[in-house]
Amino acid sequence: MNGETAGSAVPVCSLCSEPSAVFQKLKDRYLCGTHFTADIEQRVMDTIKTREMIAAGDRVAVALSGGKDSTALLLLLSRLLPQWPDVRLVAITIDEGISGYREETIHSAEELTRRLGIEHHCISFSELFGDSLDTILKGRETKACSICGIMRKKALAVGAGRIGATKLATGHNLDDEAQSVLMNVFRGDLPRLIRNSGMDSSGRFIPRIKPLSLISEKEIALYLMLNNAWNVLPECPYTRFALRREVRSLLSGFEYRHPGTMLHLITSKQKIERSCKGSEVSDPLKTCRGCGDPSSGEFCQVCQLRQSRNR
Ligand code: SF4
Ligand code: ZN
Repeated sequence: MNGETAGSAVPVCSLCSEPSAVFQKLKDRYLCGTHFTADIEQRVMDTIKTREMIAAGDRVAVALSGGKDSTALLLLLSRLLPQWPDVRLVAITIDEGISGYREETIHSAEELTRRLGIEHHCISFSELFGDSLDTILKGRETKACSICGIMRKKALAVGAGRIGATKLATGHNLDDEAQSVLMNVFRGDLPRLIRNSGMDSSGRFIPRIKPLSLISEKEIALYLMLNNAWNVLPECPYTRFALRREVRSLLSGFEYRHPGTMLHLITSKQKIERSCKGSEVSDPLKTCRGCGDPSSGEFCQVCQLRQSRNR
């Protein structure tokens, strides 16, 4: 194994003689801060290129919540995108209206975009749907994340459309993606499991891209710390109701005992995706009778939510 300790307790980087910042179990090597940062940036670049996420002339909107994943995504893209000709970066923040939580993350998003010199747009649930998430959730807090997710997806699509974005980039990381695979298996939701979340072939949505999908949550945290972008922010008060929370703790236990588990889940999903290509696993898209957006049913999920509130 690499990484002699050079007389001290801290092993040295396997690529240079600097003290290491991390041990990469899967590659059996130590990396210093500089080599770790370079490794993350190269892997993100490889993901973007292999999955053809960005093309010359794209206007890429980054969904910037102000939390660690989207902060890392914006920072990484601002460093990597100059390599593509004529690609512009814009940030969109959705203010769901979650008191005691969103104010601080929005502030952090504003500071980051100012520091990086990136155009920033904010759009709120109150403006779009007439009420804050806190108000909408009264009496049904246990469904917070699914309601929030449906509405935020719509808000991001509206925001990206308003600024003429050609791609919408989100900060989903390896842990998020692996958790989603497992959750869809638990729910028996094959259409959602194999949906290629990276690209949309119907042409009716702005394509969503996930450049951090092969970078783990821990790696993102370390990248932020090493690049002076780490910020301690409050946690959303509704996370305690999330099914994802249980799956997250289950998976991190597996990953600790069996390194590579999360990556294997993603690889399995990609294999299933490829073998199902061309087969009909979900109904073709319709047009929502309420708002005219693409929808899998007669009404889209946002219109169904509106109807359930009016009942
Ligand atoms: Fe929305 Fe749930 Fe995330 Fe809170 S934890 S911001 S409610 S999805
Ligand atoms: Zn090094």
